[in-house]
Amino acid sequence: MEKITADKRVFAFIIVIAASIAALTCGCAKQQAYKGELEIEESRFFFVDSGFAAYHEGTLYFTEPAFSGRKPFVYFADTKTGECMPLCGKPECSHDNNNCNAYLDGLYGGNPLFTVYNNKIYWRRFEKAKTELIPILCSMNLDGTMRKDVMSLDYALEEFMNVGFLGIYDGKLFRCGSGETVEDSEPVYSVTVYSQELTGEADPNVILHMKGYNGILARMNGNVLYIACFARGEDEKLLLLSYNMDDETLTELYSGSDFPCSAQSIFVVGDSIVFSGGITAYSYSLNNGEISPISSDPDKHLVFVSEDRIFTFTSASTYSCTDFSSGSVCTGELPDECLDGRLKYPLGSIDGTFYFFFAGFSEEQKSVLASYDPSDDCFSVLAMLP
Ligand SMILES: [Zn+2]
Repeated sequence: MEKITADKRVFAFIIVIAASIAALTCGCAKQQAYKGELEIEESRFFFVDSGFAAYHEGTLYFTEPAFSGRKPFVYFADTKTGECMPLCGKPECSHDNNNCNAYLDGLYGGNPLFTVYNNKIYWRRFEKAKTELIPILCSMNLDGTMRKDVMSLDYALEEFMNVGFLGIYDGKLFRCGSGETVEDSEPVYSVTVYSQELTGEADPNVILHMKGYNGILARMNGNVLYIACFARGEDEKLLLLSYNMDDETLTELYSGSDFPCSAQSIFVVGDSIVFSGGITAYSYSLNNGEISPISSDPDKHLVFVSEDRIFTFTSASTYSCTDFSSGSVCTGELPDECLDGRLKYPLGSIDGTFYFFFAGFSEEQKSVLASYDPSDDCFSVLAMLP
């Protein structure tokens, strides 16, 4: 593991932090009884919405993001040691062709929507029928063995879900996505949420299907699925909902247009829902129903939050990281290995450390897994993918 310590410049910094941030940092989650077995929620700040990575018990599972131009092998990385390998135990495999056990078939330019549930990795692939790509939910053991098709997904529902959330609770799949159709030569945007028993024997249950929104983010917390529907563009608006997965009730929490709808992920922390990955990070209080900014970057860079830090890529090659409580700021330069036109993807934050993926654009340009530990202001290259 190569460690590169960034140029550290700490200076006084005044930041307006809403009162709701207290709820964010004190972790005052209520004890609740859940009926079903929960999806992994050990990392509250992991970007489940990125679609190409998942986290479970000290291990990151990830593949190359869609459109990177690189072959989609599954890798696993130990977040403690930084060790990173293809998820393939085949003896004498060179891990560079379609016969490798780590190779993900049938993505057709989509992300696999990884999630970990009940000690298995679940993901979505497609199978080519005559003129259609049939989406299929698959599972494998955490060591990459025992791959199998769990069930075919509903083609009509999945057809318009370009990107979105995939999670599992109590033996049931939950899918959220946004898509576009054309009606009277005009594009019509919609968001869809549905659930389906993993047995595949029952029809899917459509929880929500709504026109007029072109983005959706979701997060499971206990037995509640939080859903944020966005309209981005001219008629900007946000609709925040909660769905109780035990008693199947959908509740509107917030509807308004006061905030830029640019978030890439939502997190549930204590009694707040935190929106991160946009030009503003903000939080919604489940107690009083109010939305407050956590951070706003006047230069419109994307901001990512962890339990106690705000991370910003301030240029193609530089970053800053602000401490909520002290207001101190570290700035630095990204390691050279992460640059050269690579696309930056945040994977999220685990125990305060941020993880990033810098995707190469071709078979020759290797992708890079990196982490940033704010406690020692250290940006580390964990692995150059083979
Ligand atoms: Zn292999």
